[in-house]
Amino acid sequence: MTGGASARLHLDDPVSVLSGVGPKLRGHLRDKLGIATVRDLLEHYPRRYQDPGEVLDLSEVRTGERATLIGEVVSWDLRRVPPKGRRRSRLDLATARVRQASGAEFTVTFFNQIWREKQLAPGTVAAFGGEVRRFRKDLQLTTPEVQVLGRVDAGTGLEQAAERLRNQRLLAIYPAVKEVSTFKLTQLVELALEALPPVDDWLPDAWRERQRLLPLDTAIRAIHRPADRAEQRAARTRLAFDELMTLQLGLQARRRQLEAEVAGVDNAPVPGGWAERFVASLPFAPTGAQQRAFAALGADLAAPRPMHRLLQGDVGAGKTVVAVWAMLCAVDRGRQAALMVPTEVLAEQHHRTLQALLAPLGVNVLDGLRVELLTSSTTTSARRRILGELLSGTVDLVVGTHALLEEGVRFADLGVVVIDEQHRFGVSHRVRLKEKASEGRPGEREILPDVLVMTATPIPRSLALTLYGDLDETELDELPPGRRPIATRLITPAEADRRERLYGFVREQAAAGFGTYVVCPFVEPSDTLPGTAAVAEHERLAEVVFPDLEVALVHGRQRTEDKERAMARFRGGEAQVLVATTVIEVGVDVPHATVMIIEDAERFGISQLHQLRGRVGRGGERSYCVLFAGWNGELSPEASRRLEAVAGTTDGRKLADVDLSIRGEGELFGQAQSGTPDLKLARVQDDRELIQRTRDLAREVVARDPHLADPGLVAVRAEVERRYGGREAMAALETG
Ligand code: ADP
Ligand code: MG
Repeated sequence: MTGGASARLHLDDPVSVLSGVGPKLRGHLRDKLGIATVRDLLEHYPRRYQDPGEVLDLSEVRTGERATLIGEVVSWDLRRVPPKGRRRSRLDLATARVRQASGAEFTVTFFNQIWREKQLAPGTVAAFGGEVRRFRKDLQLTTPEVQVLGRVDAGTGLEQAAERLRNQRLLAIYPAVKEVSTFKLTQLVELALEALPPVDDWLPDAWRERQRLLPLDTAIRAIHRPADRAEQRAARTRLAFDELMTLQLGLQARRRQLEAEVAGVDNAPVPGGWAERFVASLPFAPTGAQQRAFAALGADLAAPRPMHRLLQGDVGAGKTVVAVWAMLCAVDRGRQAALMVPTEVLAEQHHRTLQALLAPLGVNVLDGLRVELLTSSTTTSARRRILGELLSGTVDLVVGTHALLEEGVRFADLGVVVIDEQHRFGVSHRVRLKEKASEGRPGEREILPDVLVMTATPIPRSLALTLYGDLDETELDELPPGRRPIATRLITPAEADRRERLYGFVREQAAAGFGTYVVCPFVEPSDTLPGTAAVAEHERLAEVVFPDLEVALVHGRQRTEDKERAMARFRGGEAQVLVATTVIEVGVDVPHATVMIIEDAERFGISQLHQLRGRVGRGGERSYCVLFAGWNGELSPEASRRLEAVAGTTDGRKLADVDLSIRGEGELFGQAQSGTPDLKLARVQDDRELIQRTRDLAREVVARDPHLADPGLVAVRAEVERRYGGREAMAALETG
């Protein structure tokens, strides 16, 4: 192919400098593919690669083998074959004769692709890949893969084309659109790469060598025309590294900046204090993982910079104990702590749990801890009293929902904030917290409390956070002793009799003092979505199936008292069955509950099902989870995969992986995408190791040089700013 652009090409040049890119193509590139500059073009990475087989001369070809043959199209033969026999429609048959450098000829045949005649007009040099057959006296390729290489009258020689393809064993296939085909893109990329002088590497040699990465220029070229798979992978790694490294550097720098502007508080554990006495008072010994978490959190709490840590642990790993301990560290320093949760039911649950856990130390008694609950259902008079006591510092610990973030909620001295199941909170809340914590101390430097985020769904969300939110992480990778995996069964209508048997089993469990949850997707019947409604199911179970048992009902549209009463009766064992919606999804802790029945399980996502299942098996008893699926409509293959995954393992990490692979990252980042840098190559799931690596390296760099001011890092800083548009964009990133 001819070198198109004459002057030295620059990455920021518009694509129109490439020969052959007129206004029309330029418009298509921009509107359909988002390609405006040469850089955009080169960052339009191949979707996949194709191994064309060996590039051969006809004399070397054996029939029945895959090969790539290069030649010049000499003529076309177009024929229309009328319908015949079982073939109902006509067939357009286009056959080209192609001549090789040796003079040998072969034919290529396309069915219903008349347009090939225009694409491959006589004089076109192209590579044809496919299985070689003998047809009459000719060697023939039928509907081969085609790569246009050039035109004879434009100077493309057959020998030279063959030589080049011999060195380029993988053909890049680009994401293409009707208006711009993959071979057009191949052509443009070729032109650009030929005209592009070596690209300067922004990465200092020392880093690059330590990370064993290809030079940037090599990587840019090799991703488009790799010699082999190994080179293609190395190129991809280098370019994905660039995306992640600049992102991490930007995030780290932004975090340092935020933390330089605000002060943290010293919440270091006090010997002999509340936190220490709390752990000593527990009826069990902390697991090793919990102890490691105390150590990691202790260091954060003591540090002058604000803590921002993620505590991950599968359902039942014992996160609450860790959270309470951290909150008590603040109280030990004369400060307050808040626990924020996504739902009212959960707030009430946590409030009760806190009171029970802290009872040995004394709660809401003289000299004891003051613990309060604040939600949108708190009565006006109680609310007024609690707000007053938060501001005066009388209340030590407060549990609540989003209501805690409302205006008018002010603290005397907020030291620690724990956010449970953070996926329902936005990152911007951290900024709101900064305001809350500083309100009691006007005039002083802004304070950011120590923040602990807890989640049982490690991926995808926490990985997204690792990427976008820059939290430190601690994992509770050990369940308390004596836990038994929850036996999980999937029941479809094909085994309808098992439903009756299950109800018998529920009755036996009830007789033995164990409780059963029945979770439904809806509160009331819906016109548009078929499925079981909690209200109707409650009636059916209470009146028809279990007239001998007490069946309680809890859902989000009830009044708070009704909700509380239902939960209390189930918790106390008076009601043996609790029909619920997903209000019980997280955190609800009733140790004698052993059976979880989920109706229309196909309506729930993997992490939801895993969370729901985590509501049983909390007391060390053998526990069961039953997923009813397909009872209100057919199961999609995707739903089946989800349900089989949940039935197949109780390992939250494995499930999260399946979840991610089914849903993909498009959805994962769907909402968060606006304003965030787009990662073109890096993938959260596939590149965990690279994410970790870049995060560590970025941390090290920013710790030494928060503003990347070292003269040796000029190119690094420029690259971060180029990608993320400097500080404003980074700030937007951080505050969501
Ligand atoms: P999660 O991580 O799901 O929030 P919880 O904190 O609710 O888990 O703990 C689940 C159950 O395990 C609770 O009943 C809690 O009291 C109990 N638990 C927590 N830590 C331990 C431990 N070290 N040994 C035994 N039981 C524990
Ligand atoms: Mg919990």
